[in-house]
Amino acid sequence: MLIDTHCHLADPAYVADLPQVLERTWHAGVARVVVIGESLDRADAALAMAAAEPRLVVTAGIHPHDAVQWSGDAEASLRQLLRHPRVVAVGETGLDFHYDHSPRPLQHQAFEAQLDLAAELGKPAVIHAREADEDVAAILNAHPRATAILHSFSSGMGLLRAGLVLRHYVSFSGMVTFKNWHLDDAIRETPLDRLLLETDGPYLAPVPHRGQRNEPGFVRQVAERVAAVRGIPVEELIAATGENAQRVFQLTPDS
Ligand SMILES: [Zn+2]
Repeated sequence: MLIDTHCHLADPAYVADLPQVLERTWHAGVARVVVIGESLDRADAALAMAAAEPRLVVTAGIHPHDAVQWSGDAEASLRQLLRHPRVVAVGETGLDFHYDHSPRPLQHQAFEAQLDLAAELGKPAVIHAREADEDVAAILNAHPRATAILHSFSSGMGLLRAGLVLRHYVSFSGMVTFKNWHLDDAIRETPLDRLLLETDGPYLAPVPHRGQRNEPGFVRQVAERVAAVRGIPVEELIAATGENAQRVFQLTPDS
């Protein structure tokens, strides 16, 4: 089952033509899409979309860029969203020391609190990690009860291995098709039962769509590249990653 485990369909980039984007998505053979709610408002919008389309499920979280917005009220609102059966994961959360849009201590605080929520509610956490490998690994080690998804993986092998030791999942995006991609080892080292596929639309459109707006139907190009690196038939890769997505997000025919 081909599943895009990470697309920001509530982003304004899709406002003008969402029905057409979804039509192309299903036509491309994508069975489910996980719509990322990277803020409380986006999570609300994503839930409204999912109410109208059973093949969509959503996440809810506060992105590390916005960690400065973390508060008791935000946590209470997030907890309420996460109780919704169509909200299948916390996130995205994590650390971004490249942009540093929020002070690092606040990024730490929001990340740890969201991992605690994930563990408490039994839902995985979608992790954004940029130029913060050691801190992310240390925090994941300190919160072993939360299941993590290292999303759009482009970190170092140290963080990959730290995550795999904890039996976390690793998700690859269209970056794997880029000329400057240099992490085929990460694709090979991730066990087949921990691998996930994503687009991370509207960003990071895979070759041959590079530079365009990304959309869930393009996840097939990610699958083809990952399968080629691993030397297995693409249908086998799609079946395995689809099972993984159903397992980690606890997808059921009615969620
Ligand atoms: Zn994302």
